Amino acid sequence: MPRLVILGSAAAVPDAAHENTYMVLAGDHGSIMIDCAGSPIGRLERAGVSLSSLRSIIITHIHPDHAYGLPIVLMSLWLLGRREPLRIYAPAMVIGRLRTIMVAYEWGDWPHFYPVEFVEILPYDEAPVLDDEDFLITALPCDHFVPTVSLKVVSKSNGHKLVYTSDTAPLDSLTEFARGADLLLHEAAGATRGHSSAGMAGRTAREANARKLVLIHYQVYADPAILMSEARLEFDGPIEVAQDFSEYPL
Ligand SMILES: [Zn+2]
Ligand SMILES: [Zn+2]
Repeated sequence: MPRLVILGSAAAVPDAAHENTYMVLAGDHGSIMIDCAGSPIGRLERAGVSLSSLRSIIITHIHPDHAYGLPIVLMSLWLLGRREPLRIYAPAMVIGRLRTIMVAYEWGDWPHFYPVEFVEILPYDEAPVLDDEDFLITALPCDHFVPTVSLKVVSKSNGHKLVYTSDTAPLDSLTEFARGADLLLHEAAGATRGHSSAGMAGRTAREANARKLVLIHYQVYADPAILMSEARLEFDGPIEVAQDFSEYPL
């Protein structure tokens, strides 16, 4: 059964119990990583997601807490003998920076490196990202310091809809994008520029008529009970605070 596994749940500063925010969609036919931080190879293993099932990686924006795990994933898969192509989906600016980072790591000198294909996520509402046997994924440009996208994942097995905001301030277009989501995975880093608080996440969940709100990308020193109570002031549906290795059926 398709599932979402949270591989990290922290905002920009991790700690011993929380890596930065990233996750994997494990489908019946393959898996897709969304953002890439921390120590992805070990975390995928612990989550029971085989490396050979990994087909694609989506990077929402170029901040290190969402992207710095990519070079080690690419190198590890090569050293483990991967031959199959890997697709990396990201906004155009992110693709340019990721290429530059990989050139800095001299990836051109890695012999017999498997094919890596970069696919641009276009900057418009409901932009198509990926359509495979398990999932249909679309994107929405959001409001952060750098170009970023929120993602909507529709599970083909049952039509369930997941929205992951990545980093963004509240937006009317995000509320529309998330309308009727079965699971709204909303950042809660705090009410600073380009981010949202738990209360703002709760308001978006209410206005979008989401079925369930899961807070993620929060400050690791924050008390989860306080984050929940802030969101509860706005949203009366089920609320959770994601932890590393939390799992949700899709
Ligand atoms: Zn972030
Ligand atoms: Zn960011």
